[in-house]
Amino acid sequence: MADTSISSIKGRRVWDSRGRATVEAEIELACGARGRAIAPAGASRGAREAIDLRDADGLGVRAAVANVNGVIATALSGMDALKQEAIDRALIALDGTPNKARLGANATVAVSLAALHAAASAQDVPLFRYLSEGKPVRLPLPEIQIFGGGAHAGRRIDIQDLMVMALAAKSFDEALEMTARVYHAAGELMRDAGKLRGVADEGGWWPEFDSNAEAIETLVRAIARAGFVPGDEVAISLDIAASEFGARGRYRLDGKDLDSDGLCELVLGWLARYPIVSVEDPLAEDDRAGMMRFTAAAGDRVQIIGDDYLTTSAARVKDAIADRACNAVLLKPNQCGTVTETRAALDLAKAAGWGCIVSARSGETEDLSIVHLATGWDAGQLKVGSFARGERMAKWNEALRIEEMLGDDARFAGRAALSRKA
Ligand code: PGA
Ligand code: ZN
Repeated sequence: MADTSISSIKGRRVWDSRGRATVEAEIELACGARGRAIAPAGASRGAREAIDLRDADGLGVRAAVANVNGVIATALSGMDALKQEAIDRALIALDGTPNKARLGANATVAVSLAALHAAASAQDVPLFRYLSEGKPVRLPLPEIQIFGGGAHAGRRIDIQDLMVMALAAKSFDEALEMTARVYHAAGELMRDAGKLRGVADEGGWWPEFDSNAEAIETLVRAIARAGFVPGDEVAISLDIAASEFGARGRYRLDGKDLDSDGLCELVLGWLARYPIVSVEDPLAEDDRAGMMRFTAAAGDRVQIIGDDYLTTSAARVKDAIADRACNAVLLKPNQCGTVTETRAALDLAKAAGWGCIVSARSGETEDLSIVHLATGWDAGQLKVGSFARGERMAKWNEALRIEEMLGDDARFAGRAALSRKA
Protein backbone atom coordinates (compact mmCIF):
# COMPACT_ATOMS: atom_id res chain seq x y z
CA MET A 1 0.00 0.00 0.00
CA ALA A 2 1.25 3.45 -0.89
CA ASP A 3 1.89 5.77 2.05
CA THR A 4 -0.88 8.37 1.62
CA SER A 5 0.07 10.55 4.57
CA ILE A 6 0.51 14.25 3.85
CA SER A 7 4.19 15.17 3.66
CA SER A 8 3.95 18.76 2.51
CA ILE A 9 1.43 21.54 1.91
CA LYS A 10 2.33 24.64 -0.07
CA GLY A 11 0.14 27.70 -0.60
CA ARG A 12 0.73 30.38 -3.21
CA ARG A 13 -0.96 33.43 -4.68
CA VAL A 14 -2.35 32.95 -8.21
CA TRP A 15 -4.85 35.07 -10.20
CA ASP A 16 -8.44 34.46 -11.27
CA SER A 17 -10.51 35.22 -14.39
CA ARG A 18 -11.21 38.79 -13.20
CA GLY A 19 -7.53 39.43 -12.54
CA ARG A 20 -7.99 39.18 -8.79
CA ALA A 21 -5.68 37.36 -6.41
CA THR A 22 -6.69 33.95 -5.14
CA VAL A 23 -5.18 30.99 -3.30
CA GLU A 24 -3.68 27.83 -4.77
CA ALA A 25 -2.77 24.91 -2.51
CA GLU A 26 -0.51 22.04 -3.47
CA ILE A 27 -0.24 18.90 -1.38
CA GLU A 28 2.32 16.12 -1.64
CA LEU A 29 1.90 12.73 -0.02
CA ALA A 30 4.65 10.45 1.33
CA CYS A 31 4.15 8.14 -1.68
CA GLY A 32 4.91 11.05 -4.02
CA ALA A 33 1.35 11.64 -5.24
CA ARG A 34 0.38 15.30 -5.60
CA GLY A 35 -2.84 17.28 -5.66
CA ARG A 36 -3.49 20.91 -6.46
CA ALA A 37 -6.53 23.18 -6.31
CA ILE A 38 -7.40 26.87 -6.60
CA ALA A 39 -10.11 28.74 -4.68
CA PRO A 40 -12.72 30.52 -6.86
CA ALA A 41 -14.37 33.82 -5.84
CA GLY A 42 -17.93 35.13 -6.01
CA ALA A 43 -19.14 38.66 -6.77
CA SER A 44 -22.77 38.28 -5.74
CA ARG A 45 -21.97 36.63 -2.46
CA GLY A 46 -24.53 35.47 0.07
CA ALA A 47 -24.36 37.28 3.43
CA ARG A 48 -23.95 33.97 5.23
CA GLU A 49 -21.15 32.61 3.06
CA ALA A 50 -17.82 31.59 4.55
CA ILE A 51 -15.36 34.49 4.50
CA ASP A 52 -12.38 34.82 2.13
CA LEU A 53 -9.30 36.45 3.64
CA ARG A 54 -8.14 39.26 1.34
CA ASP A 55 -5.57 41.98 1.86
CA ALA A 56 -6.91 45.52 2.16
CA ASP A 57 -5.52 46.53 -1.26
CA GLY A 58 -7.62 43.80 -2.95
CA LEU A 59 -4.57 42.47 -4.78
CA GLY A 60 -3.25 40.16 -2.13
CA VAL A 61 -4.25 37.06 -0.25
CA ARG A 62 -1.16 37.18 1.97
CA ALA A 63 -2.90 36.16 5.20
CA ALA A 64 -4.71 33.23 3.57
CA VAL A 65 -1.51 31.97 1.89
CA ALA A 66 0.39 32.37 5.16
CA ASN A 67 -2.27 30.27 6.88
CA VAL A 68 -1.85 27.48 4.31
CA ASN A 69 1.93 27.49 4.67
CA GLY A 70 1.82 27.92 8.46
CA VAL A 71 -0.89 26.69 10.79
CA ILE A 72 -2.71 24.53 8.22
CA ALA A 73 0.45 22.78 6.98
CA THR A 74 1.49 22.07 10.57
CA ALA A 75 -1.93 20.76 11.61
CA LEU A 76 -2.48 18.50 8.59
CA SER A 77 1.05 17.16 8.24
CA GLY A 78 1.08 13.37 8.56
CA MET A 79 -2.71 13.03 8.16
CA ASP A 80 -3.99 10.38 5.73
CA ALA A 81 -5.20 12.01 2.50
CA LEU A 82 -7.69 9.17 2.03
CA LYS A 83 -9.51 10.41 5.15
CA GLN A 84 -11.10 13.54 3.67
CA GLU A 85 -13.58 13.95 6.50
CA ALA A 86 -10.84 13.88 9.16
CA ILE A 87 -8.85 16.46 7.17
CA ASP A 88 -11.86 18.75 6.86
CA ARG A 89 -12.78 18.31 10.54
CA ALA A 90 -9.22 19.34 11.41
CA LEU A 91 -9.57 22.46 9.24
CA ILE A 92 -12.92 23.31 10.85
CA ALA A 93 -11.49 22.82 14.38
CA LEU A 94 -8.35 24.83 13.60
CA ASP A 95 -10.48 27.67 12.24
CA GLY A 96 -12.87 27.61 15.18
CA THR A 97 -15.29 30.20 13.73
CA PRO A 98 -18.73 29.56 12.19
CA ASN A 99 -17.63 31.01 8.83
CA LYS A 100 -13.89 30.27 8.31
CA ALA A 101 -13.14 33.87 9.27
CA ARG A 102 -9.84 32.95 10.91
CA LEU A 103 -8.21 30.74 8.27
CA GLY A 104 -10.16 32.13 5.29
CA ALA A 105 -12.45 29.96 3.17
CA ASN A 106 -10.12 30.69 0.24
CA ALA A 107 -7.38 28.91 2.22
CA THR A 108 -9.50 26.02 3.49
CA VAL A 109 -11.28 25.21 0.22
CA ALA A 110 -8.01 25.14 -1.72
CA VAL A 111 -6.42 22.81 0.84
CA SER A 112 -9.51 20.60 1.18
CA LEU A 113 -9.77 20.13 -2.60
CA ALA A 114 -6.00 19.68 -3.03
CA ALA A 115 -6.09 16.83 -0.48
CA LEU A 116 -8.91 15.23 -2.48
CA HIS A 117 -6.91 15.48 -5.72
CA ALA A 118 -3.82 13.99 -4.01
CA ALA A 119 -5.87 11.06 -2.70
CA ALA A 120 -7.27 10.28 -6.16
CA SER A 121 -3.82 10.59 -7.67
CA ALA A 122 -2.37 8.18 -5.07
CA GLN A 123 -5.03 5.66 -6.11
CA ASP A 124 -4.18 6.36 -9.73
CA VAL A 125 -7.78 7.09 -10.72
CA PRO A 126 -9.46 10.23 -12.09
CA LEU A 127 -11.06 12.28 -9.32
CA PHE A 128 -14.65 11.56 -10.40
CA ARG A 129 -13.98 7.82 -10.12
CA TYR A 130 -12.38 8.20 -6.72
CA LEU A 131 -15.44 10.15 -5.53
CA SER A 132 -17.96 7.69 -6.96
CA GLU A 133 -16.72 4.87 -4.68
CA GLY A 134 -17.74 2.33 -7.28
CA LYS A 135 -21.34 3.59 -7.58
CA PRO A 136 -22.81 4.45 -10.99
CA VAL A 137 -22.49 8.08 -12.04
CA ARG A 138 -24.12 10.32 -14.64
CA LEU A 139 -22.75 13.21 -16.63
CA PRO A 140 -24.61 16.25 -15.28
CA LEU A 141 -27.23 18.25 -17.18
CA PRO A 142 -25.44 21.54 -17.89
CA GLU A 143 -27.06 24.88 -17.15
CA ILE A 144 -25.29 27.34 -19.46
CA GLN A 145 -25.46 31.13 -19.43
CA ILE A 146 -26.32 32.99 -22.66
CA PHE A 147 -26.71 36.53 -21.26
CA GLY A 148 -24.92 37.77 -18.14
CA GLY A 149 -26.51 40.41 -15.94
CA GLY A 150 -26.70 41.81 -12.43
CA ALA A 151 -23.43 42.14 -10.54
CA HIS A 152 -21.60 40.41 -13.41
CA ALA A 153 -22.55 43.01 -16.03
CA GLY A 154 -22.52 46.42 -14.40
CA ARG A 155 -26.15 45.88 -13.30
CA ARG A 156 -27.30 46.64 -16.87
CA ILE A 157 -30.30 44.37 -16.14
CA ASP A 158 -31.37 43.03 -12.75
CA ILE A 159 -31.50 39.28 -13.50
CA GLN A 160 -27.99 37.88 -13.04
CA ASP A 161 -27.97 34.79 -15.27
CA LEU A 162 -30.14 34.00 -18.29
CA MET A 163 -29.29 30.40 -19.04
CA VAL A 164 -30.42 27.45 -21.15
CA MET A 165 -30.78 23.75 -20.48
CA ALA A 166 -30.65 21.43 -23.49
CA LEU A 167 -33.45 19.12 -22.38
CA ALA A 168 -33.62 17.11 -25.61
CA ALA A 169 -29.92 16.19 -25.51
CA LYS A 170 -29.09 12.51 -25.18
CA SER A 171 -25.51 13.07 -24.06
CA PHE A 172 -23.35 15.75 -22.52
CA ASP A 173 -21.60 16.21 -25.86
CA GLU A 174 -24.91 16.83 -27.60
CA ALA A 175 -26.02 19.24 -24.84
CA LEU A 176 -22.91 21.34 -25.46
CA GLU A 177 -23.43 21.38 -29.22
CA MET A 178 -27.05 22.46 -28.82
CA THR A 179 -25.98 25.19 -26.40
CA ALA A 180 -23.25 26.37 -28.77
CA ARG A 181 -25.94 26.88 -31.43
CA VAL A 182 -28.10 28.94 -29.06
CA TYR A 183 -25.10 30.96 -27.82
CA HIS A 184 -24.10 31.93 -31.35
CA ALA A 185 -27.70 32.58 -32.41
CA ALA A 186 -28.07 34.95 -29.44
CA GLY A 187 -24.86 36.74 -30.48
CA GLU A 188 -26.25 37.13 -34.03
CA LEU A 189 -29.50 38.59 -32.69
CA MET A 190 -27.53 41.11 -30.64
CA ARG A 191 -25.32 42.00 -33.61
CA ASP A 192 -28.32 42.41 -35.96
CA ALA A 193 -29.94 44.74 -33.41
CA GLY A 194 -26.71 46.73 -33.09
CA LYS A 195 -26.45 45.67 -29.45
CA LEU A 196 -23.38 43.43 -29.43
CA ARG A 197 -21.12 44.76 -26.65
CA GLY A 198 -18.83 41.84 -25.79
CA VAL A 199 -19.28 39.53 -22.84
CA ALA A 200 -19.95 39.73 -19.08
CA ASP A 201 -17.90 38.16 -16.25
CA GLU A 202 -18.92 34.55 -16.97
CA GLY A 203 -18.75 34.79 -20.77
CA GLY A 204 -22.44 35.46 -21.49
CA TRP A 205 -23.30 38.26 -23.93
CA TRP A 206 -23.36 41.70 -22.34
CA PRO A 207 -27.08 42.48 -21.75
CA GLU A 208 -27.84 45.58 -23.82
CA PHE A 209 -31.58 45.42 -23.01
CA ASP A 210 -34.14 47.94 -21.79
CA SER A 211 -35.88 45.51 -19.45
CA ASN A 212 -35.54 42.09 -17.89
CA ALA A 213 -38.49 40.80 -19.94
CA GLU A 214 -36.79 41.94 -23.17
CA ALA A 215 -33.75 39.84 -22.21
CA ILE A 216 -35.91 36.76 -21.62
CA GLU A 217 -37.79 37.33 -24.89
CA THR A 218 -34.50 37.63 -26.78
CA LEU A 219 -33.37 34.34 -25.27
CA VAL A 220 -36.58 32.64 -26.45
CA ARG A 221 -35.92 34.02 -29.95
CA ALA A 222 -32.31 32.79 -29.85
CA ILE A 223 -33.46 29.26 -29.00
CA ALA A 224 -35.88 29.30 -31.95
CA ARG A 225 -33.30 30.87 -34.29
CA ALA A 226 -30.92 28.01 -33.38
CA GLY A 227 -33.58 25.59 -34.64
CA PHE A 228 -34.96 24.31 -31.34
CA VAL A 229 -38.45 24.26 -29.86
CA PRO A 230 -38.29 26.56 -26.81
CA GLY A 231 -39.26 24.73 -23.64
CA ASP A 232 -39.39 21.35 -25.28
CA GLU A 233 -35.90 20.92 -26.71
CA VAL A 234 -34.11 23.82 -25.05
CA ALA A 235 -35.56 25.51 -21.98
CA ILE A 236 -34.70 28.60 -19.95
CA SER A 237 -33.18 28.76 -16.50
CA LEU A 238 -32.89 32.06 -14.59
CA ASP A 239 -30.72 33.07 -11.67
CA ILE A 240 -32.64 36.07 -10.39
CA ALA A 241 -30.07 36.60 -7.58
CA ALA A 242 -32.67 38.81 -5.86
CA SER A 243 -30.43 39.58 -2.87
CA GLU A 244 -28.50 41.86 -5.24
CA PHE A 245 -31.46 44.20 -5.69
CA GLY A 246 -33.51 43.74 -2.55
CA ALA A 247 -33.59 43.16 1.21
CA ARG A 248 -36.09 43.36 4.07
CA GLY A 249 -38.95 42.66 1.67
CA ARG A 250 -38.21 45.66 -0.59
CA TYR A 251 -36.96 45.19 -4.14
CA ARG A 252 -36.01 47.51 -6.99
CA LEU A 253 -36.33 45.91 -10.44
CA ASP A 254 -36.66 47.53 -13.89
CA GLY A 255 -36.47 50.84 -12.02
CA LYS A 256 -39.66 50.07 -10.05
CA ASP A 257 -40.13 49.46 -6.31
CA LEU A 258 -41.71 46.13 -5.45
CA ASP A 259 -42.53 44.37 -2.22
CA SER A 260 -42.04 40.63 -1.73
CA ASP A 261 -45.50 39.80 -3.12
CA GLY A 262 -44.88 42.07 -6.09
CA LEU A 263 -41.62 40.34 -7.01
CA CYS A 264 -43.25 36.92 -6.50
CA GLU A 265 -46.08 37.86 -8.87
CA LEU A 266 -43.69 39.30 -11.45
CA VAL A 267 -41.53 36.14 -11.59
CA LEU A 268 -44.62 33.89 -11.55
CA GLY A 269 -45.83 35.92 -14.54
CA TRP A 270 -42.57 35.17 -16.36
CA LEU A 271 -43.05 31.45 -15.59
CA ALA A 272 -46.52 31.64 -17.15
CA ARG A 273 -45.31 33.47 -20.29
CA TYR A 274 -41.91 31.96 -21.02
CA PRO A 275 -40.51 28.39 -21.25
CA ILE A 276 -38.69 28.52 -17.90
CA VAL A 277 -37.87 25.28 -16.07
CA SER A 278 -35.60 26.49 -13.28
CA VAL A 279 -35.33 29.65 -11.14
CA GLU A 280 -32.56 30.46 -8.65
CA ASP A 281 -32.95 32.85 -5.69
CA PRO A 282 -36.27 34.38 -6.90
CA LEU A 283 -36.46 36.27 -3.58
CA ALA A 284 -33.68 37.63 -1.38
CA GLU A 285 -31.68 35.59 1.11
CA ASP A 286 -33.57 37.16 4.05
CA ASP A 287 -37.05 36.62 2.53
CA ARG A 288 -38.02 33.25 3.98
CA ALA A 289 -41.76 33.93 3.71
CA GLY A 290 -41.34 34.97 0.06
CA MET A 291 -39.36 31.84 -0.81
CA MET A 292 -42.00 29.66 0.86
CA ARG A 293 -44.82 31.45 -0.97
CA PHE A 294 -43.01 31.18 -4.29
CA THR A 295 -42.27 27.46 -3.83
CA ALA A 296 -45.87 26.75 -2.83
CA ALA A 297 -47.05 28.52 -6.00
CA ALA A 298 -44.59 27.06 -8.54
CA GLY A 299 -42.52 24.25 -6.98
CA ASP A 300 -44.62 21.51 -8.57
CA ARG A 301 -43.78 22.80 -12.08
CA VAL A 302 -40.39 24.44 -11.81
CA GLN A 303 -37.07 23.84 -10.13
CA ILE A 304 -36.46 26.47 -7.42
CA ILE A 305 -32.80 26.71 -6.43
CA GLY A 306 -31.39 28.24 -3.28
CA ASP A 307 -27.95 29.78 -3.76
CA ASP A 308 -27.54 32.90 -1.59
CA TYR A 309 -30.54 31.54 0.33
CA LEU A 310 -28.73 28.30 1.30
CA THR A 311 -25.00 29.12 0.90
CA THR A 312 -24.09 25.41 0.68
CA SER A 313 -24.95 24.98 4.35
CA ALA A 314 -26.40 21.62 5.47
CA ALA A 315 -28.14 23.36 8.36
CA ARG A 316 -29.85 25.83 6.03
CA VAL A 317 -30.77 23.08 3.56
CA LYS A 318 -32.36 21.19 6.45
CA ASP A 319 -34.43 24.23 7.47
CA ALA A 320 -35.45 24.91 3.86
CA ILE A 321 -36.59 21.30 3.41
CA ALA A 322 -38.78 21.67 6.52
CA ASP A 323 -40.04 25.07 5.30
CA ARG A 324 -40.50 23.99 1.67
CA ALA A 325 -38.67 27.18 0.77
CA CYS A 326 -37.02 25.74 -2.39
CA ASN A 327 -36.64 22.34 -4.06
CA ALA A 328 -33.01 22.38 -5.19
CA VAL A 329 -29.62 23.43 -3.84
CA LEU A 330 -26.70 25.15 -5.54
CA LEU A 331 -23.45 23.66 -4.26
CA LYS A 332 -20.38 25.92 -4.23
CA PRO A 333 -17.53 24.43 -2.17
CA ASN A 334 -16.11 27.85 -1.28
CA GLN A 335 -19.42 29.00 0.20
CA CYS A 336 -18.81 26.65 3.13
CA GLY A 337 -15.06 26.08 2.77
CA THR A 338 -14.58 22.30 2.71
CA VAL A 339 -15.40 19.25 0.58
CA THR A 340 -17.04 17.47 3.52
CA GLU A 341 -19.45 20.32 4.30
CA THR A 342 -20.37 20.58 0.60
CA ARG A 343 -21.06 16.86 0.57
CA ALA A 344 -23.22 17.13 3.70
CA ALA A 345 -25.46 19.72 1.99
CA LEU A 346 -25.71 17.49 -1.10
CA ASP A 347 -26.61 14.39 0.94
CA LEU A 348 -29.45 16.14 2.75
CA ALA A 349 -30.82 17.62 -0.47
CA LYS A 350 -30.66 14.29 -2.30
CA ALA A 351 -32.39 12.47 0.54
CA ALA A 352 -35.23 15.00 0.28
CA GLY A 353 -35.57 14.37 -3.47
CA TRP A 354 -34.24 17.83 -4.28
CA GLY A 355 -32.27 18.82 -7.36
CA CYS A 356 -28.51 19.29 -6.84
CA ILE A 357 -26.48 21.69 -8.96
CA VAL A 358 -22.70 21.88 -8.45
CA SER A 359 -21.63 25.40 -9.38
CA ALA A 360 -18.65 27.53 -10.30
CA ARG A 361 -18.27 31.16 -9.14
CA SER A 362 -18.09 34.27 -11.27
CA GLY A 363 -14.36 34.46 -10.47
CA GLU A 364 -12.83 31.21 -11.73
CA THR A 365 -9.56 29.68 -12.88
CA GLU A 366 -8.30 26.61 -14.72
CA ASP A 367 -9.30 24.52 -11.69
CA LEU A 368 -11.54 21.62 -12.78
CA SER A 369 -12.55 20.18 -9.41
CA ILE A 370 -16.27 21.01 -9.65
CA VAL A 371 -16.72 18.94 -12.82
CA HIS A 372 -15.45 15.90 -10.95
CA LEU A 373 -17.58 16.65 -7.89
CA ALA A 374 -20.71 16.97 -10.05
CA THR A 375 -20.02 13.72 -11.89
CA GLY A 376 -18.43 11.64 -9.10
CA TRP A 377 -21.17 12.54 -6.62
CA ASP A 378 -23.83 12.05 -9.30
CA ALA A 379 -25.26 15.47 -8.47
CA GLY A 380 -27.22 15.55 -11.75
CA GLN A 381 -26.61 19.19 -12.72
CA LEU A 382 -23.64 21.51 -13.32
CA LYS A 383 -23.49 25.32 -13.60
CA VAL A 384 -20.27 26.86 -14.88
CA GLY A 385 -21.27 30.16 -16.51
CA SER A 386 -21.37 30.68 -20.24
CA PHE A 387 -19.99 29.16 -23.43
CA ALA A 388 -16.94 31.39 -23.82
CA ARG A 389 -13.77 32.27 -21.84
CA GLY A 390 -11.12 29.69 -21.03
CA GLU A 391 -11.97 29.21 -17.35
CA ARG A 392 -15.51 28.20 -18.37
CA MET A 393 -14.65 26.11 -21.45
CA ALA A 394 -11.97 24.20 -19.49
CA LYS A 395 -14.76 22.79 -17.34
CA TRP A 396 -17.15 21.91 -20.16
CA ASN A 397 -14.24 20.26 -21.99
CA GLU A 398 -13.26 18.25 -18.90
CA ALA A 399 -16.80 16.84 -18.75
CA LEU A 400 -16.39 15.76 -22.40
CA ARG A 401 -13.20 13.89 -21.47
CA ILE A 402 -15.01 12.17 -18.60
CA GLU A 403 -17.87 11.20 -20.92
CA GLU A 404 -15.35 9.71 -23.34
CA MET A 405 -13.51 7.91 -20.53
CA LEU A 406 -16.77 6.30 -19.39
CA GLY A 407 -17.41 5.06 -22.92
CA ASP A 408 -20.36 2.68 -23.08
CA ASP A 409 -20.97 3.25 -19.36
CA ALA A 410 -21.54 6.97 -19.89
CA ARG A 411 -25.02 7.96 -18.84
CA PHE A 412 -26.35 11.50 -19.12
CA ALA A 413 -28.57 12.88 -16.36
CA GLY A 414 -30.62 14.93 -18.84
CA ARG A 415 -34.02 16.42 -18.02
CA ALA A 416 -34.67 13.80 -15.31
CA ALA A 417 -32.19 15.66 -13.08
CA LEU A 418 -34.49 18.68 -12.84
CA SER A 419 -36.38 18.95 -9.60
CA ARG A 420 -40.12 19.59 -9.32
CA LYS A 421 -41.49 19.48 -5.81
CA ALA A 422 -43.81 21.88 -4.05
P1 PGA B 1 -21.15 34.64 -7.86
O1 PGA B 1 -22.44 34.35 -8.74
O2 PGA B 1 -20.15 33.58 -8.08
O3 PGA B 1 -20.71 36.01 -8.30
O4 PGA B 1 -21.62 34.67 -6.42
C1 PGA B 1 -22.84 33.08 -9.12
C2 PGA B 1 -24.28 32.81 -8.74
O5 PGA B 1 -24.96 33.67 -8.13
O6 PGA B 1 -24.79 31.72 -9.01
ZN1 ZN C 1 -26.82 32.43 -7.85
